[in-house]
Amino acid sequence: MSTTAENRRPGRLWVTTVRRIRRVTPRVRRITVTSPELSQFRGNGTDQHIAVYFYEDGVVLPRPFTTEEARRIYPHAKPAMRRYTIREARPEVCEVDLDFVLHEGDHLASGWAAAAEPGDELIWFGPTPAYAVDPEAAAFLLVGDETAVPAIVCILDELADAAPARVHIEVEGPEEEQELPVGPRTSVRWAHRRGDRPGEALWRSVTGDARPEAGTKVWGGAERDVMARLRRRAVEDWGLPRSDVHLTAYWTLHRKQDADRDL
Ligand SMILES: Cc1cc2nc3c(=O)[nH]c(=O)nc-3n(C[C@H](O)[C@H](O)[C@H](O)COP(=O)(O)OP(=O)(O)OC[C@H]3O[C@@H](n4cnc5c(N)ncnc54)[C@H](O)[C@@H]3O)c2cc1C
Repeated sequence: MSTTAENRRPGRLWVTTVRRIRRVTPRVRRITVTSPELSQFRGNGTDQHIAVYFYEDGVVLPRPFTTEEARRIYPHAKPAMRRYTIREARPEVCEVDLDFVLHEGDHLASGWAAAAEPGDELIWFGPTPAYAVDPEAAAFLLVGDETAVPAIVCILDELADAAPARVHIEVEGPEEEQELPVGPRTSVRWAHRRGDRPGEALWRSVTGDARPEAGTKVWGGAERDVMARLRRRAVEDWGLPRSDVHLTAYWTLHRKQDADRDL
C-alpha cells in the first residue's frame, strides 16, 4: 500500500475492550482490543497511529458512544489524548494490537497499560494517514526508540526488502530487542541506553554509521531532542532534501504529551 489515497482514509471513534495481553519484552505490553465494529476497520498502512482518549473520572459517556457524540460533549468533556501505533489490525477477527511501552512512573497511558486486564474499555480515534513507503527510493534509514518499533515493523513489512534499509533502534538493553521482519538488504543495529539520557545511544549509533547515500529516505520516531538533532544532521550535513526526512517527536522528556487535535 503506497498510494496517497490508500494511506489517507479518515479516522473515526472506536469503543473497544481488551481481549488479550501479551508481554513482548519486559517493558512492552501488547494489548489486543476488540469490538464487533472492528470488522469494518480499514488500515492506512505503515506508521498509522491513533489517539487513545482518557476521560476524567466521573464523566458519564453517552451510549452508544460515537464520533458525533464525542464531538458533542467535547466542550465540557475533553479527553486527554495519547498517540499509539497500530501494530497489527485483523478485521477478520475484529482485533487490533497496540504495543505499549511501560516507561517508569504511573503515567496516564503507560500506567493504564501496565494495569490493563481483559474486559477493560479502551476508546480511541483513528487511524491517521500513514507514511507512504516509496519503493523507488535509493535506500531507507529508519531510526527510533522502543515506541517506534511498531511503526518500523510496519514500514519494513511494506518495504519487503525492495530497497536497502539501515535500521537503528535505541532500547534500554538487550532484553528489549525484538524480532524484525528483515531481508538480506536490511541491517539492524540495536543501541542500548543502559540508563543514559534517552536519545544519546541512538544519536551515537546513527552518526557513527556511514553517511546515507543520496536519495535515501529517512523515517524516525523517538524523544523530541534526538529527532531535532538528527533532522539537522540529515538536512544540513548530509544534504538530504527536507521532504525526504520524516522524523517525528514521539514524546518529550519531562513533559506530558499534549494531543488535542483530531476531533
Ligand atoms: C505518532 C506517534 C506514535 C506513537 N506510537 C507509540 C506506540 O506504538 N507505543 C508506545 O509505547 N508509544 C508510542 N508513542 C509515544 C507515546 O505516545 C508517548 O510515550 C506518550 O507520552 C505516553 O503517554 P503517557 O501518558 O504514558 O505519558 P505522558 O503523560 O505523556 O508523560 C509523562 C512523563 O513520561 C515521560 N515519557 C513519556 N513517554 C516516555 C517514554 N517512551 N520513555 C520514557 N519516558 C517517557 C514524559 O517525558 C513525561 O515526563 C507514539 C507517539 C507518537 C507521536
